[in-house]
Amino acid sequence: MKLIKYIPLFIILIVTSIVSAQETDTEDGRDPGHINGNRFRQMYNEFSTPNMYRTASGAPGANYYQQQADYKMDIELDDKNAKITGFETITYTNNSPDELEYLWVQLDQNVREKDSKTSLMSSGTVGGADQPSGVVGKYFGGGFDGGFKIVSVKGEKGANLPYMINQTMMRVEMPKNLQPGEKFVFSIKWWYNVNNHVTDRARSGYEEFSDGNRSYVIAQFFPRMAVYNDVEGWQNSQFWGRDEFALPFGNYEVNITVPADHIMDGTGVLTNRKEVFTKTMMNRYNEAKKSYDKPVVIVTQAEAIAKENTFATTKKTWKFNATMVRDFGFASSRRFIWDMMSVKIGNKDVMAVSLYPKEGNPLWEEWSTIAVASTLKTYSRMTFDYPYHKAISVHAKNQGMEYPMICWNYGRPNEDGTYSERTKYGMMSVIIHEVGHNYFPMIVNSDERQWTWMDEGLNTFLQYVAEQDFGEWYPDAIAPNKSYPSRRGPASKIVNYMSGDQNFIAPIMSKGLTTYQFGNNAYGKPATGLNILRETVMGRELFDYAFKTYANRWMFKHPTPEDFFRSMEDASAVDLDWFWRAWFYTTDYVDIGVKEVKKYFVTSKMTSQIKEMMEARGMTESDLPPLVYFVEEGSDDFEESMRNVKVEDVPTLKEYMMDNLTADERASLKKPNFFYQITFEKPGGVPMPIIVKYEYADGSSETVMYPVEVWIKNDLKFAKVVASEKEIVKITVDPNQETADIDTSNNTWPKRKKLGEFNKFKEKVKG
Ligand SMILES: [Zn+2]
Repeated sequence: MKLIKYIPLFIILIVTSIVSAQETDTEDGRDPGHINGNRFRQMYNEFSTPNMYRTASGAPGANYYQQQADYKMDIELDDKNAKITGFETITYTNNSPDELEYLWVQLDQNVREKDSKTSLMSSGTVGGADQPSGVVGKYFGGGFDGGFKIVSVKGEKGANLPYMINQTMMRVEMPKNLQPGEKFVFSIKWWYNVNNHVTDRARSGYEEFSDGNRSYVIAQFFPRMAVYNDVEGWQNSQFWGRDEFALPFGNYEVNITVPADHIMDGTGVLTNRKEVFTKTMMNRYNEAKKSYDKPVVIVTQAEAIAKENTFATTKKTWKFNATMVRDFGFASSRRFIWDMMSVKIGNKDVMAVSLYPKEGNPLWEEWSTIAVASTLKTYSRMTFDYPYHKAISVHAKNQGMEYPMICWNYGRPNEDGTYSERTKYGMMSVIIHEVGHNYFPMIVNSDERQWTWMDEGLNTFLQYVAEQDFGEWYPDAIAPNKSYPSRRGPASKIVNYMSGDQNFIAPIMSKGLTTYQFGNNAYGKPATGLNILRETVMGRELFDYAFKTYANRWMFKHPTPEDFFRSMEDASAVDLDWFWRAWFYTTDYVDIGVKEVKKYFVTSKMTSQIKEMMEARGMTESDLPPLVYFVEEGSDDFEESMRNVKVEDVPTLKEYMMDNLTADERASLKKPNFFYQITFEKPGGVPMPIIVKYEYADGSSETVMYPVEVWIKNDLKFAKVVASEKEIVKITVDPNQETADIDTSNNTWPKRKKLGEFNKFKEKVKG
């Protein structure tokens, strides 16, 4: 402890300067005070208080509950008139501790009602041109008579129930209040005209082909129970067409009657396969169950083409049973080609399935089912084993939309069957994304109406992981020596958005309907944030375990944002409040740079700076123990004592300190010839670890990550002293662009324009 003698002096000097600064601040006697604006403060103000439903650790609490809605439905698709009729019986179970006075049922089809308010709320300008049907639709009350026609709402014994419809929400009154633990059974008879989803840009409807045939992708097609829970009460926020859904889990028995020559599939287990399959289809199906490496065609393109002019007038009823699903969707057409293959997930076989009209080929027969299989493998590894027995990808023009076990996807080759890489990867990406939605929000059932990012952000993040994994499961799918061209995920891809006009950026933690730039806000930014947590802040091991914990805790349940944020911290022991606040609750961006670099050498000769300080206190050099002094390159002291010293002859600390050090200390000193005081600046609001690449004169380099906590006490700058044996010639912050730094012009030292000056200086040192 020989150095201790002179430490007090420096402490005195430092303390003196701090004290005098404080005196200046409070000279006028006022202390205006402040609230805690530290970017690392805990999120007690933003987060809801943990309770018996949702714990502080982010897991479901002891009194967690969720409502259940079971459906029995008879549906008929009238292909000739493009009309769907339905009769459904809902058994609603009140698992909440609350008495319910009424029930809310969602009527999503009402956005296409003739007098829907959806068109009134959308602003518009006169375009240069439009199709006549578009003009009629937009400005003359709509040429299309959509929306639910509710025929009856009845109780279990057949008595009519009073109901009121407010746009897309229907309030149903019960004969008496529904007590905790009770069930209420009621039925709704309805029908509606099916819209053309291609001209409508809707997520459900039909596409009409030139031969007069249609292919239907049908969803939001039946009155669906709204969610009632501890967070929102009834989630009866109106559907405006873009923001998605909040739905309770339940069991479904659905009979769907379609023309006899249609091929169809939907959510759930097909329970009467032998009635609706031909013998040939049955044999092919049994073969598909044993095929793990390539799809087996159940209905061939030739068979589909042969039916193009049949227009059957007879009907067939397909029967489905689904347990623990939050919704139901189906697709039907006589033009569908159908293929399937088995995927091993855990110790279970899951069927990967594709349905597509011939317009999708050859792209779809080549890659759709493979993409489904690949998705199930990656997502199951990152979350939990896929619990359903099948996952279907249906080809529908311009669609990308998800339902339990089934989804609609775009991607169509040119008419001559050729397709670009862009079309192929676009199609594979949308399939990965929509099949991936089975995990979020179909199973980890978040409230999409409220928080778009909870399913889209998490899913887009996993989509990126699955895309990068694709080639490992199916090497033939990716062009040789190429990696999957992901559109979202890497940090650098969100920079444009985060550096954009702040008037048109909303925090991620905004209700879907109130955000700007939907894709960037709810998909890209949260996905990128999770990718940064995984690759840079937490590391894969900590992140993956925590992410999996969240997924498993909330599988088949209804999580909130806090449940996610808390679970990620709870399972990793990484305090992430700073990250959630900055990335999810603000529109701040990342910008970290090198502000200043000062280079020092050691000398035994007292520098003028210290000499002045000593004199001011009436002390002389003899009052001090032997010291080494730091002399800044370019200073007067430097000019005087070091200007002619060659770089290899620069004195080292070792030469001055021998007497004062133990043998061990001497050995560990080696040769720190160079001392750098590096000041990093943070013009951006988001704290981030500082990743720094140091490049040395001998051509070697080293990358160091200073933890994000360096910003706790000073949000604007952070100084670091680096003692180096080798001369540093270049410093780069975030060299691999993994933090979404929006301005890289301040990321390097020396700055390009000052290069001349630096070289001149280097020459001086070298003599
Ligand atoms: Zn999505």
